[in-house]
Amino acid sequence: MLGEIKGLNEECGIFGVWGHPESAQLTYYGLHALQHRGQEGAGIVTTDGEQLKLHKGHGLINDVFSQDQLKELHGKASIGHVRYATAGDGGYENIQPLLFRSQTGGFALAHNGNLVNAHALKSQLEAQGSILQTTSDTEVVAHLIKRARHLPLADAISEGLTMIKGAYAFLMMTEEAMYVANDPRGLRPLCLGYLGDSWVVSSETCAFDIIGATYEREVMPGELLIISDEGIESRRFSAPIQRTLCSMEYVYFSRPDSDLDGKNVHASRKRMGKSLAKEAPIEADVVTGVPDSSISAAIGYAEEAGIPYELGLIKNRYVGRTFIQPSQELREQGVKMKLSPVRGIVEGKRVVMVDDSIVRGTTSRRIVKMLKEAGAKEVHVRIASPPIKNPCYYGIDTSNSGELIAANHSIEEIQQIIGADSLSFLTPEGLNEAIYEGQESLEHGGCMACFTGNYPTEIYPNTAHPYEKA
Ligand code: SF4
Repeated sequence: MLGEIKGLNEECGIFGVWGHPESAQLTYYGLHALQHRGQEGAGIVTTDGEQLKLHKGHGLINDVFSQDQLKELHGKASIGHVRYATAGDGGYENIQPLLFRSQTGGFALAHNGNLVNAHALKSQLEAQGSILQTTSDTEVVAHLIKRARHLPLADAISEGLTMIKGAYAFLMMTEEAMYVANDPRGLRPLCLGYLGDSWVVSSETCAFDIIGATYEREVMPGELLIISDEGIESRRFSAPIQRTLCSMEYVYFSRPDSDLDGKNVHASRKRMGKSLAKEAPIEADVVTGVPDSSISAAIGYAEEAGIPYELGLIKNRYVGRTFIQPSQELREQGVKMKLSPVRGIVEGKRVVMVDDSIVRGTTSRRIVKMLKEAGAKEVHVRIASPPIKNPCYYGIDTSNSGELIAANHSIEEIQQIIGADSLSFLTPEGLNEAIYEGQESLEHGGCMACFTGNYPTEIYPNTAHPYEKA
């Protein structure tokens, strides 16, 4: 993932299965398909109808689970989580699912997103005597639900959800049932599928494909699903409002083989590239994309512009998290770990370099330099999304405003900083059109707050960017 060096990090992924004897194994495979959404920690909670069992740890799915550990998690239903630490720190206690045990039974919780009023709710809960065990937002929800314990659990969950604001896709589980909820704006992706008689839930459809499950539908904004041996029940905990699914899911986060809200991510990215070619044409010899997330947009740009698409940059796939990174001095001497230019393709050429986004600008500067050192005559940078000028409060690390290059510099200045011969970004209208193909208007399309500053929810006075809090 280039995200780490770019300063654009994934949030989290959640996956659940109800009604399958190998639910933990399926969840392991599902989480594998969602690994791009978080690499810092992972966990699975399973129920056999009598008790909940948890295994979680730091690192990639492969680091956290062995075959023996999965065997221990036998049971008919599981929920799992891959984590990138958006809110709270990266401590073990913050790795999800969180599991709470009481005399009346267990309650497990996995969350993708970020709550904008968590700070206020935490203060309120602590003032009322609650003791919070973690620094993550997610625990707040468990306490709110617990406070409504006089109600049947589904009602208590609905009541708890009405108090939280922001972006959330939740999977919750007791010994007897699984509860699935999406926030009233549906900011984070969440979909429902089935595998034989079992129900499956995932952040992205690519996890259904890996286990052979069939997509059924999106979990709707403001919907609470209750899945148990009795079947599936759908309730609303908030009135229907226009969905504002995160546009960055289409631009960068989701896997190209996933469908979000019925729209394939690769096809959407190709349309972004085509729109960009219409908005910002340039005379050039080759088009190349920054692997992996920009390849689809680069193909679209090349198709629309009638310029050949070539593999001008290659990603080294075997640079793991524990790889010893070169020192600044070695980097300056030209040691490149993640990307390499293909000299035979770019030498003597006018190159269009398509990237999905610019966050801090450091990655773009390095890539432009790399292409020029490999002999490119000109490097024209085309970005398949608008300039990111505002922080995200909904669970995506887009860095704080001080680090966002577009929040502090004009496009001409950014062009100079990254050393490009020209630079253009896709407009918000172009992005909206590429995602929704004219079915939605800018006012009623997905969330574009990091580009436009129009946040789809209230932002509370003390809402800190998740990374400023952590
Ligand atoms: S602010 Fe940007 S990154 Fe955050 S949810 Fe909205 S579109 Fe996605």
